[in-house]
Amino acid sequence: MNLSTGRGRTAGVVGMGRSGAAAARLLASRGYSVVGFDSSLAARGTEHISRTAFGSFSDDDLKGLSVLVLSPGVPVSAAISMRASELGVSVTGEVELAWMNTTADVLAVTGSNGKTTTVEWLSHVIRSSAMGIEAVAAGNMGYPFSDAILDNPRCPVFVVELSSYQLETTESLKASSAVILNLTPDHLARHGTMENYGAAKARVFLNQGEGDTAILNFDDPLLEKYRNMSGGAQMFFSLAGEVYPGAWMNSSGMLMYRDEFRREEVIHCTELSLPGRHNIANALAVICMAASYGIPAEKLVTGLKDFSGVSHRIEPLGEAKGLVWFNDSKSTNVDSLKVALESFDEKVILIAGGREKNSDYSVLNELIAKKVKALVLFGSGAESLSAQWKGTVETLIVNNLEEAVEKSQTLAEHGDTILLSPGCASFDQYTDFEERGDHFKKLVQALR
Ligand code: ADP
Repeated sequence: MNLSTGRGRTAGVVGMGRSGAAAARLLASRGYSVVGFDSSLAARGTEHISRTAFGSFSDDDLKGLSVLVLSPGVPVSAAISMRASELGVSVTGEVELAWMNTTADVLAVTGSNGKTTTVEWLSHVIRSSAMGIEAVAAGNMGYPFSDAILDNPRCPVFVVELSSYQLETTESLKASSAVILNLTPDHLARHGTMENYGAAKARVFLNQGEGDTAILNFDDPLLEKYRNMSGGAQMFFSLAGEVYPGAWMNSSGMLMYRDEFRREEVIHCTELSLPGRHNIANALAVICMAASYGIPAEKLVTGLKDFSGVSHRIEPLGEAKGLVWFNDSKSTNVDSLKVALESFDEKVILIAGGREKNSDYSVLNELIAKKVKALVLFGSGAESLSAQWKGTVETLIVNNLEEAVEKSQTLAEHGDTILLSPGCASFDQYTDFEERGDHFKKLVQALR
């Protein structure tokens, strides 16, 4: 598919969200006139869309198109995509479209958890390496790859977060380095089975060859079958013991790196700027990615030490009213809540709740008894969480975050830590986890 010039041609974009808007912008910049498709009649086009087909679509809408670009939320199995293929229209995804329109390198990050943190940390580490490499983070983390290449035409390397949905439609993307961080049985609704989900993630290694590197979490048994899948070199990271080639944490907490030329200490885990074992794993992935891209280990230290983290992921909010506050609004399931609790050495007052996921929260009972001083539960899932965590620690049920912030203080003693880590979706009271986290930050700010 040659997308280099669209003069006189028409392209379609399905899905009018952020990625769709970015795809339309890129296509328009290449001279295409763009038709926007969205199943919602309430959708809105953008300045780069010359015609819209909202609600249903007809064959006539599709027939004249040179290409149909899908947003990541739209599966290739969607009716519009299937029909376009039958009519001979080539169908692709927004990430693939961006890749076709850049000559920059791509460092690709996928996995079930830790993608955004790793992508932001890696791009920060590269920028801080004093090697004069301007790296930009893009992709699934909220800055579409298509926007990134248009905004940063001279950027030599993009660190791109890829969801399994986005990987379903990449065909020619060739990552200089690519990592699968971990695999947990999330997102199964769309992919059907763990097998398909894993296979979609493994597409991140597609087209790799000499000079490229495929990186895997050595500790994740579900990733074992994705070893030796890439045409490039292979690297591992592990919290459990030495791996070669790759990065690991040794028994004294030192993060190590080894390849065919060197075996060296990089940084001690206590010097990393982010808390928790999960972030040590993310740091090891960052080390592998940066080292495989040719950055010497000693140049990684600054960025590993002074990265400020990503909002809403165990984000320190500082002190207010003699208490220490953390915002982990990104925690929307049992797994992230577990990871958050494990990141604290001291007992916390936990604010949790929201729209409960269909999972067994009682698996956390032991951890809650060990790590939580008191529970404050809010939102539509509060009663159910309270029932599942019965017998663990003192529990208060409140209606909303305002009340949670207020009541949590009455349970706390001077110097205590108060953690918002909902473990639930936000949609009962907010549009998304960002809005929930921002609200929490405002409430804490107001206490000062
Ligand atoms: P993603 O972009 O994959 O959703 P984030 O970096 O936004 O991941 O982190 C989301 C949450 O996932 C974090 O708040 C934390 O609870 C958890 N997490 C982060 N890194 C890891 C990891 N390496 N392993 C397990 N859980 C993690």
